[in-house]
Amino acid sequence: MALSLIENPVPWPNGAKCAVAITFDIDTDSMLHLHYPDKAQDMIAAYSFLQYDEIAIPRILKVYRHFDIKQTFFYPAWCMERYPHLVDAILKDGHEIAAHGYLHENPNDVSREREEYWLDKQTDVILRMTGQKPRGWRAPLYNASRWSIDLLAERGFLYDASLMGDDIPYVLNTAKGDLVTLPTHWAMDDWPHYAHALEFDYVMSIKAPDDAMKVFHSEFEAMHKHGGMLITVWHPFVSGRLARLDRVVTWIEQMLNYGDVWFATMEGIALHVKKCIDDGSWTPRVDQLPYYEGRIPEWEREEDG
Ligand SMILES: [Zn+2]
Repeated sequence: MALSLIENPVPWPNGAKCAVAITFDIDTDSMLHLHYPDKAQDMIAAYSFLQYDEIAIPRILKVYRHFDIKQTFFYPAWCMERYPHLVDAILKDGHEIAAHGYLHENPNDVSREREEYWLDKQTDVILRMTGQKPRGWRAPLYNASRWSIDLLAERGFLYDASLMGDDIPYVLNTAKGDLVTLPTHWAMDDWPHYAHALEFDYVMSIKAPDDAMKVFHSEFEAMHKHGGMLITVWHPFVSGRLARLDRVVTWIEQMLNYGDVWFATMEGIALHVKKCIDDGSWTPRVDQLPYYEGRIPEWEREEDG
């Protein structure tokens, strides 16, 4: 018998061995305006790198239609307002749109009040443009603050998608209530494999799609073997580039051929997890938040010592 490395796998629907969500964050040029508010209008080449979303998003939707799968797009709300035709195309195909900041602002850089303001602003846009409040949220840059989960729980969000603490979902308990988090990790992000963007101080040697896919696929094989969950954090202007998405098509085919892989939206996964918790068929690990209220007492400042 194979040695199982996940102690408490989720019973996935229909006996599936693992859940897969290929999620994209549609940041487009939000970051450009955030980093260069007074210069963005002159940064035409940088804009064109991000503007590739116009090509990549319809292409990704075509791939999903081909395989008849529904997936989740995390969307800074400013990008939705700026490019509403892309939102319409995503909704027309029945995919989920989830929250990802307003202008991709970093929750670690702002006060609780300011974070609340941005969260409500993005929620309003998503409600207005999709007819539904967002069910999930991924922190821009994964930078969930010590308040983020409280704010989400308070507003009735179903899941968070910002954390990296496990291979399977876990529950975050806060003063404002509980929230399921659907974790991923850096290996499943496309920036470390492909992104070379001087403007954002991100300079990586670019991998061949086959090499990046080796990383993604070994993650998939292990998740499939041990009953985990695979969540990509990809960007249309990065992974939707021709050679990369061409390789993704082969990869999806390969995963579907296993016959026991559950492709789902993040909302679908979170709802399933909640159902398993509610009917007692699975008991999650529960983390108490915040992990720290402030500076740990053992840490002594040099000026005190
Ligand atoms: Zn992002």
